[in-house]
Amino acid sequence: MSESAPSPAPRVAAILLAGGRGTRAGFARPKQLEPLGGKPVLRWSLDALAGHDAISAGVMVADDDVTAAIAPLPGGWISAAPGAERQDSVGNALAALADWGDDALVLVHDAARPGLTADVVDRLLAALHDADAAIPTLPVPDTLVAQSGNAAGDVVDRSALARVQTPQAFRLGTLRRAHAGAAGVAATDDAQLVRRLGVAVVAMPGDARLHKLTYAEDMAILAGLLGIGTMTRTAVGMGYDVHRLVTGKPLWIGGIEIAHSHGLEGHSDADVGLHALTDAILGALADGDIGDHFPPSDPQWRGAASHRFLAFAAGRVAARGGRIDHVDLTIIAEAPKIGPHRPAIRARISEILAIPLERVSVKATTTERLGFTGRREGIAAQAVATLKLPEN
Ligand code: MG
Repeated sequence: MSESAPSPAPRVAAILLAGGRGTRAGFARPKQLEPLGGKPVLRWSLDALAGHDAISAGVMVADDDVTAAIAPLPGGWISAAPGAERQDSVGNALAALADWGDDALVLVHDAARPGLTADVVDRLLAALHDADAAIPTLPVPDTLVAQSGNAAGDVVDRSALARVQTPQAFRLGTLRRAHAGAAGVAATDDAQLVRRLGVAVVAMPGDARLHKLTYAEDMAILAGLLGIGTMTRTAVGMGYDVHRLVTGKPLWIGGIEIAHSHGLEGHSDADVGLHALTDAILGALADGDIGDHFPPSDPQWRGAASHRFLAFAAGRVAARGGRIDHVDLTIIAEAPKIGPHRPAIRARISEILAIPLERVSVKATTTERLGFTGRREGIAAQAVATLKLPEN
């Protein structure tokens, strides 16, 4: 027997697909940012892949807002933009790995499956010693029948069927060839594209914890599968802000511009309502105040649109694995009348925070011509934010 020198283990990269917006029922934000056990769903897969000894680099495919909510990425990881279809997203990730050799290995994983364990990764990589493609599958436990409308038909032999999960593991060159030849082919996973090349795909045991997050009720299933407590605490924060009324400035309140003889003076757009709301959310997080995060001394915030401050605060909630249950904003002004603008302000705040309209309250009051607001020297705003945060 001749002995060959042991070849070095091939490099392994991961592609994490987090490009979908998760618009199916029950999610107020991209589902990959839903909190699960104190961190966003996406973070579970990212931590599992980045923490695996064999995986030295990764590409996260996600929109900029999702990437920003997860930042910073682990060492060796980069981000790529999603494409129109799933395989366009994989194609963008493959382009980001252009300087990797065909002999490298790659795992393609769907961020909507947070329950990834090192064991599954180990099994798939081991299968690639003798194969170019390996996928995790599970048996079908239920009886299956053909069905037409509400008419149940013949039993389908479930012993010949399997449920397919991710991650799916490939030799990088094989996956490249599969995608290069797949323009216009509709496929729900990568193994299908590889099989079109005539390449054998090895099925390895999957894991029930790789349950896919599709509907809101899947969150409770995943929490059970992953052994996560569902304990949360309620946190309430308040915010208060005042800006001076001056001539020659636009009037921004609650994220909308209101026609008026005067506008509010300040370093940013001086949106007193959004400032109070931003401070309320930061207050509930015990995360300082708006001036800590956006110092008035910093010229980059001169004239800044305040929706950026509010979106930042919402991002801090998501990053903690929390969610905004409710916000209540009161504008205190003698003039202009705020009432006619309340629906537009509510809608705008709901949009900025990515929470349903019924969780946003906007009220207005005068101070009966008393004090600085009564004398029309300025406008004040108060806000209360109620958050749900993971127990830690
Ligand atoms: Mg202010």
